[in-house]
Amino acid sequence: MHVFDYFFDLDNYMTKERFAKLREFASTKQTPFLVTSLSVVGRKYDELKKSMPYAHVYYAIKANPTEDVLRLLLDRGSCFDVASVYELDLMLRLGATPDRLSYGNTIKKACDIKYAYEKGVRLFASDAESDVRKLAEHAPGSDVFFRILTDGLGADWPLSRKFGAQPDVVFDNILLSKKLGLNPRGISFHVGSQQHDVTQWRVALKNCKELFCAAKQQGIDLDLVNMGGGFPAHYLHPVEDTYVYAAEITDYMREFFGGEFPQVIVEPGRYMVGDAGVLVSEVVMISRKERESGIPWIYLDVGKFGGLIETLDESIRYPIYSERTGYANDYVLAGPTCDSMDVLYEKQPFRMPSSIEEGDRLYIFTTGAYTQTYSAVFFNGFPPLNSYVID
Ligand SMILES: *Cc1c(COP(=O)(O)O)cnc(C)c1O
Repeated sequence: MHVFDYFFDLDNYMTKERFAKLREFASTKQTPFLVTSLSVVGRKYDELKKSMPYAHVYYAIKANPTEDVLRLLLDRGSCFDVASVYELDLMLRLGATPDRLSYGNTIKKACDIKYAYEKGVRLFASDAESDVRKLAEHAPGSDVFFRILTDGLGADWPLSRKFGAQPDVVFDNILLSKKLGLNPRGISFHVGSQQHDVTQWRVALKNCKELFCAAKQQGIDLDLVNMGGGFPAHYLHPVEDTYVYAAEITDYMREFFGGEFPQVIVEPGRYMVGDAGVLVSEVVMISRKERESGIPWIYLDVGKFGGLIETLDESIRYPIYSERTGYANDYVLAGPTCDSMDVLYEKQPFRMPSSIEEGDRLYIFTTGAYTQTYSAVFFNGFPPLNSYVID
């Protein structure tokens, strides 16, 4: 029985005029592909700078390394968090000077540290004694910030226990780095990606402050707080505006650091580019697995291996738009590959118009972050996700 009309509030994501332009641009191209809007990225950057004027922005390249996006951010004055020598080379090729790059990955080979140092990078993240020793040897005298562990509570895409160390270990590493001739600069953390709970920044900042005090007692003046990423994009579940996050975080900074802030770095990835992307896809097949009951399935030409890996555990719920109207029905959504994990939403089925047909285009919003970079090469022969930019 049909009870509800299909409803999708396009205005939550873009104006009708912008959508019409996007649709026109997309109409001649074969799906699936990602379209990233440069003006949206620019607006996001400006919004963040305006709401946290004291913070230095280091864009987390992995979220969307499209060269036009990187060039735009370079022109605006952004710095960059590089995670590998490949991202480092990319940024140098685009004209970034090494003083605008931080090597933010705590997991690095000695030869990669050496390479980054030779290229002029002097700011490194670290969370392990062994890494501190490698840095001391291959990047002597460099600035180092130390990453503390967070629990990722409140985040849709937590980064778990993989990165960072407990404050007592960090403290030991700060002392060791000083002894080995490095320059311990400060503390970093990441509260987990797509973080809904802004008080998680308070928990982390409190730890930073305590480490600042402990280091000071040993004669080490830390002066850098790197707050990482975590700022949200606008998926289906509503999130607070940037300025709400920024105002709260600024209050926490005042609470712990008073009137004189240390240097502050933010490393937005998802926030910067998520809202700027639309993934255009096509319905390949619609089918029923039972004659009478059961939820019908919609198979798209893009799935977990084509760029939508963040639907793992149905963590990220993308807004998916069909231009059809009328009654709505619940569907399981799945991708096109022959892997059983290539199902997007099954536990919580998706409401789509029941007039939907094979060959229809679907517009998946908020796909500017962590999609194209995650798409597989030649799995089942499917090519990696194609990508274009528009204004
Ligand atoms: C991935 C990453 C980011 C970006 O995180 P978002 O939640 O996408 O903003 C920032 N900093 C580091 C060190 C990262 O690894």
